[in-house]
Amino acid sequence: MTDEFLSTPLQFVKGVGPRRAADFQRVGVCTVEDLLLRLPRRYENRAEVVPIARIRPGQHVTVIGEVVTSGIRPTRRPGFRLFELVVRDASGPARAVFPNQAFLRDVFHPGQQVVLYGLVEYRQGLQISNPDYEILRDAGDEPEATIHTGRIVPIYEKVGSLTPRIQRSLLYRILSELPDDLPDPLPEPVRRAHDLLPRRDAFRLAHFPPPGASIADLDRQATPAQQRLIFEEFFLFQAGLLRRRRLARGERKPHRILIDDRIRESARQVLPFRLTPGQKDALRDIVADMQRPEPMHRLLQGDVGSGKTIVALIAALVAMENGQQVAFMAPTEILADQHYLTIRRLLASSRFRVVSLTGSLSAAKRRDVLAEVGSGAAHLVVGTHALVEKGVSFRSLGLVVIDEQHRFGVAQRATLRAKGVNPDVLVMTATPIPRTLALTTFGDLDVSTIRGLPPGRMPVRTIARSETRREEIYRLVRQALEAGRQAYVIYPLVEDSEKVDLKAATAMADHLQAEVFPEYRVALLHGRLKQDEKDRVMAAFSRGEVHVLVATTVVEVGVDVPNASIMVIEHAERFGLSQLHQLRGRVGRGSAASTCILVSPPRLSEASRARIDALVASNDGFEIAERDLELRGPGDFFGTRQSGLPSLRVGDLVRDRRLLERARQAAERWVTEEESAASPLSAYLDANWSSRFGLVEVG
Ligand code: ADP
Ligand code: MG
Repeated sequence: MTDEFLSTPLQFVKGVGPRRAADFQRVGVCTVEDLLLRLPRRYENRAEVVPIARIRPGQHVTVIGEVVTSGIRPTRRPGFRLFELVVRDASGPARAVFPNQAFLRDVFHPGQQVVLYGLVEYRQGLQISNPDYEILRDAGDEPEATIHTGRIVPIYEKVGSLTPRIQRSLLYRILSELPDDLPDPLPEPVRRAHDLLPRRDAFRLAHFPPPGASIADLDRQATPAQQRLIFEEFFLFQAGLLRRRRLARGERKPHRILIDDRIRESARQVLPFRLTPGQKDALRDIVADMQRPEPMHRLLQGDVGSGKTIVALIAALVAMENGQQVAFMAPTEILADQHYLTIRRLLASSRFRVVSLTGSLSAAKRRDVLAEVGSGAAHLVVGTHALVEKGVSFRSLGLVVIDEQHRFGVAQRATLRAKGVNPDVLVMTATPIPRTLALTTFGDLDVSTIRGLPPGRMPVRTIARSETRREEIYRLVRQALEAGRQAYVIYPLVEDSEKVDLKAATAMADHLQAEVFPEYRVALLHGRLKQDEKDRVMAAFSRGEVHVLVATTVVEVGVDVPNASIMVIEHAERFGLSQLHQLRGRVGRGSAASTCILVSPPRLSEASRARIDALVASNDGFEIAERDLELRGPGDFFGTRQSGLPSLRVGDLVRDRRLLERARQAAERWVTEEESAASPLSAYLDANWSSRFGLVEVG
């Protein structure tokens, strides 16, 4: 599958050498295949040849003519020399000027046929300035195909000393040496079904497009050759993911899960309300997975406030009723504590023992908890993801629930598996994830989606206000407080200015307490507080003893205080859309009409304005997620580098989403119909998948 020619290290390719190879290596290009997969940044149509008499200043033109004279012309600037060329075609002569390229003396001489491509300028007469050039033939030679002129020409990003021209020549040579029978990682039936060009043709045409190709299509990566290479990349990524999922399906859980009336009744006992239809559907998927012999790998997504926690808790109950232990993991200690309190309350009347394992435990307490988990005396343990990463051992871990985890990528899931236990795994997202990203970061998981919110919720009214309108903002907050509600004031902490921001948040809390709301209690919550301090503040807010909670984004992840009905988000322009939506989801959880005020400076960049407008316009997390992806791109959507996004070379998750869908379907068909350990593609994926897509695999 991997062709010898394609895997040749570039330094062994004629014309490259160690120095150029090092330049390429710096941008991750090491082999011939790497180079072929580095597509041009853009293309230029240099195909149309203009008669010299018709060239005009300001145009980029291609002309063909015969060299009449050539030579160095001194200038008044010391050390600066111009190489000048006069060429002539049937319509007349033109001057071409090359600054500081004395070596061209040895390249050009009268009588040659040359092609020039460059900008026409008017300086002491018409001239073509610093054109790209090609010598068609010296007197008497046969004409050769042009590379840099007289065609649609690829423009590559400059790397170190490697000019676009050098790269173009190199690629042209490599492409001309591609073996006729170049192996193709795409299986023949896939290629046929999707009408894809052979790989060899795709490489050639993506770098040197045929005459007449549309530059606009080329620049959008929309030509058949480019699409074929993008499809290939998506297909290989998806095929690798799905193959892993299939292998995981071959795994067996050591335990069995059964459902009977007793268990159904026990779940009913715990439920504080009726599940919504969306929750029921999701729960049905999850419980069906749990009853299968192979471990569950499922993503549960739903809008903020759609009620994912209770669904997970019922799943946990099913596992515990079957004698299994459950690990419930949250991304922050505050959220873990809150889950702990909620779950303990809901399970208070059951026979199950719930423990918490967070960083705030004393060493002695921690030892006790670990012992209980190890012996099986504790049935459900709540903590942060340190639960799987550190050496916690369970007697019989049957289910792992991972809450609010955008960040829990492919690698961490592998860690779990590598621990030798094979529990059911349920991952829950904080907000909906755009489908393209779900397909890539969670592409090896089955997905359940909770549609709709619990009954009685009123949509949060969202308004944007300039920070110059403080009085109006505080009046709205006061109204809510007077009605007996509580308020959040959110302050962003930006990592590189954390100290300054923290000071601002502290000053804000002091100011609000002393001057704006002296008759209410204002408290400050941020990540730097000691754990017991955080707990105290959070608990006081939950009990309604604190009326205004000034918080850095630590509350972003999931706190649930239904009496809070107004949220002020300071510097809303600094947050991403999905993050803002997540934050906003902290209000509107009770029956009161809720408000979210997005505060920002009066003058905003267009991008920030677009984000804020989008949030004001929509309350639908699914819509917002798609818009967020469009506005910020896949890297920033998750706001973290450990997002489990693959490194793609030719494809773009936003631009090429339709192709991604097609590739996904093709990969699904391949995995169910053709894939086997003996297939060459499976072997190729096993050997190359992780490194090619930059995903670290554990175990
Ligand atoms: P999220 O999906 O954002 O994690 P939560 O699980 O925190 O949402 O639920 C949000 C709130 O809705 C909680 O207060 C929860 O008790 C409540 N809730 C969940 N499901 C229902 C339901 N079916 N009926 C009424 N309230 C519900
Ligand atoms: Mg939640």
